[in-house]
Amino acid sequence: MTEKLYYQNSKLYTFTATVLSCEEKGDQYLCILDKTAFFPEGGGQKADTGTLDEVNVLDVQEKNGVITHMTDKPLTVGASVHGALNEEQRFRRMQNHTGEHVFSGVVHAAYGYTNVGFHMAEDCMTVDFDGVLNADQLKEIEDECNRVITNNVAVNCIFPTSEELESLDYRSKLELTQDVRLVNIEGIDLCACCAPHVESTGEVGLLKVLDCMPHRGGTRITLICGLDAFEHLRTHYNCNRKVSALLSARAVETPLGVEKLQEDIVSLKREITALQTKINRLLADGLEQTDGCAVIFMEDAKTDEMRSLCNLCLPKCGQMMCVCSGNDENGYAYIIGSQTVNLREKSKEINTALNGRGGGQPTMIQGSFKATKEEIITFFNQQ
Ligand SMILES: [Zn+2]
Repeated sequence: MTEKLYYQNSKLYTFTATVLSCEEKGDQYLCILDKTAFFPEGGGQKADTGTLDEVNVLDVQEKNGVITHMTDKPLTVGASVHGALNEEQRFRRMQNHTGEHVFSGVVHAAYGYTNVGFHMAEDCMTVDFDGVLNADQLKEIEDECNRVITNNVAVNCIFPTSEELESLDYRSKLELTQDVRLVNIEGIDLCACCAPHVESTGEVGLLKVLDCMPHRGGTRITLICGLDAFEHLRTHYNCNRKVSALLSARAVETPLGVEKLQEDIVSLKREITALQTKINRLLADGLEQTDGCAVIFMEDAKTDEMRSLCNLCLPKCGQMMCVCSGNDENGYAYIIGSQTVNLREKSKEINTALNGRGGGQPTMIQGSFKATKEEIITFFNQQ
């Protein structure tokens, strides 16, 4: 059995221990000490990382009470080593984990829902409840959690006897009978948990609900606490400040500013379409009536615009009406319409002559030419 120093003091970030064994496994070493402050992965919380002397601790796992440190270099068996945890990582995880207990305790007390799933990622946590929570309820829960944090309630970890355990009402995901460790947040939550926690709720600092979504008939909540919550706030605050400056809107009015921008875009698109229709009508009016073919060149026109212009010009054209968009260097997109020529039959001849590809209906075809403006004009003049 490894002596668990993290149960005696959750803020013990450095310690001295004796190396009991060290085995090579793949490119890592499995080291067992007589005691450790490194928390092995468990209870939804990841393993601590840090160093043992000059050696890096990459992972920590517990099996049957023995804690194994996975390291990148070997340690000398029998030697005394100095352990140092990645302090900030551990503290942030404890802030988040204790915050999650507060949240689950508050939800359980207010709605009777049980935490049925917990996952701690590097940037946030998700907690699943077996009941539905709406936005108004979540706001109240969030307020209550932050009141509990401000009230700085003590967090104590206890190991009750089997008899004591029977008389206690506590939250647990498993049916436990012995060696149960309970994390008690006085009057707020009592929960079986193997992970280290902060000493009082004030150390959680801040709790924020980031998201909620329906999940297996209940609700999945995304949460963030402590320094992680503060960093999240800073990042999002800075983003909103930039948006605020770009919109010349007050920081609390950026959503209104974006709505206005979207409305402007819709009306500008409408204006562009109206202008395009006007231009097409002018171009069609300017086209001289002909028994032969006519060609109009446009720049960067969309297919819709080209098609609409082609349709407007068709009555003025005895044979084929061709609308092109592009340039000599990159070639031209084309739309060709006709009221007299079967274009599906004619398309092969057109494409062969102008190094093109494309096709369509007997009355209208579309495609592209790898030809110059002059070559296109010459071809249609000869029809
Ligand atoms: Zn826990």
